[in-house]
Amino acid sequence: QPQNGQQTGSSSFKEKSPTKSVKEKRETTPVKTIIEKKEPVIATRNPMFPETTFHKYNVTQDYRISRNVLGVGINGKVVECEQRTSGAKYALKVLRDSVKARREVALHKMASNHPHIVRVLDVYENTYNEVACILVVMEQMKGGELFTRIQDRGQLAFTEREAAKIMYEICSAVNHLHSMNIAHRDIKPENLLYSEPGQSGVLKLTDFGFAKKTDDNETQGLNTACFTPYYCAPEILGTGSYDRSCDCWSIGVVMYILLCGYPPFFSEHGEAMSPGMKSRIKSGKYGFPSPEWDSVSQAAKDLIRKLLRTDPNERYTIKQVMDHKWITHYHEVPATPLATVGMLADQKQQWGEMQEEFDKTLTAMRMDNEQIEIKSLSESNNKLLAKRKQKAQQTMTRVEE
Ligand code: ADP
Repeated sequence: QPQNGQQTGSSSFKEKSPTKSVKEKRETTPVKTIIEKKEPVIATRNPMFPETTFHKYNVTQDYRISRNVLGVGINGKVVECEQRTSGAKYALKVLRDSVKARREVALHKMASNHPHIVRVLDVYENTYNEVACILVVMEQMKGGELFTRIQDRGQLAFTEREAAKIMYEICSAVNHLHSMNIAHRDIKPENLLYSEPGQSGVLKLTDFGFAKKTDDNETQGLNTACFTPYYCAPEILGTGSYDRSCDCWSIGVVMYILLCGYPPFFSEHGEAMSPGMKSRIKSGKYGFPSPEWDSVSQAAKDLIRKLLRTDPNERYTIKQVMDHKWITHYHEVPATPLATVGMLADQKQQWGEMQEEFDKTLTAMRMDNEQIEIKSLSESNNKLLAKRKQKAQQTMTRVEE
């Protein structure tokens, strides 16, 4: 009988209770030591995002910066910090100031008021050694990554009902983002973290490094005072829907791995993204092999098929996912034990490779979408320009008459 909902409570982030002297030492840790030394950059302010919410004074006025590194990302380090007033521990992400960093932080902050999105508390813009930085104080995720936690369960069965609950939580976060016209564009296992080890842990989505406001084109490109395309169909206005559909594809892959412990698409010859895999993704060639998938419900397979559709126009939107019975009735999904835990253990060696494949596919999708965007933007511009010219010509003819 599966013991649904129980956790073994392992964590990759160990709680530390520092002695006073360590605490004092921490207090003196200068922020500049956690910033990579590079040539200073002058940040171009992005008018899209008001800067009033970024504190200009030094972060150390509010928080003590610890030496405890919680993780290292491509864009910078994440260290522990402690709020001076409450003593509460948070995570501090330090980014070099840039338009990209500001976009990441602004979108994350904008979206963070949701139970399944990592909360942003404060943002600072400080300069250290002439390097302009953006510092983000977030809630600290102490429960580790989603799949590490499932893997650490050992003998405890992981059931389809638990998988459905997890998917409901992820989908509700994505639904929140998409309803705000934000595409995350980097939904993958490493960005799904638990707040705490054990039962009280809540799964949350993080890392807005590739997030994008999907109505950017409307506000930045065409929607100028003298050139308002109010008669323009939404699909002409850009690739918002493509960027959002990329999130739904990711959800499908995460759901597939949750239900069996391995990804739907494999590369061959140990390459991270072999031509074979590329074509399998493009043609949607994947299966539900026996015996792992034999006892998985038809409803689950049906939802995966709808999420992994190759044509983004046909792929389920997050709204449709939220209305699918496997999600709406997640608490009634059969509590059938899955092969996931055992398979994750068997595949442990390949996990790094799988993450790389996920990354490469997401990068390729983002690049494809950018190409579509450039194309659709120039086409819609041309259409609008043609229409204006035509109108102008008609007016001229009338004047001449
Ligand atoms: P990047 O966007 O530069 O890749 P991430 O946001 O993914 O950076 O963070 C890098 C690492 O820091 C993560 O893999 C994770 O281990 C750790 N980390 C990030 N955010 C938190 C957090 N809120 N709490 C605890 N650890 C975190």
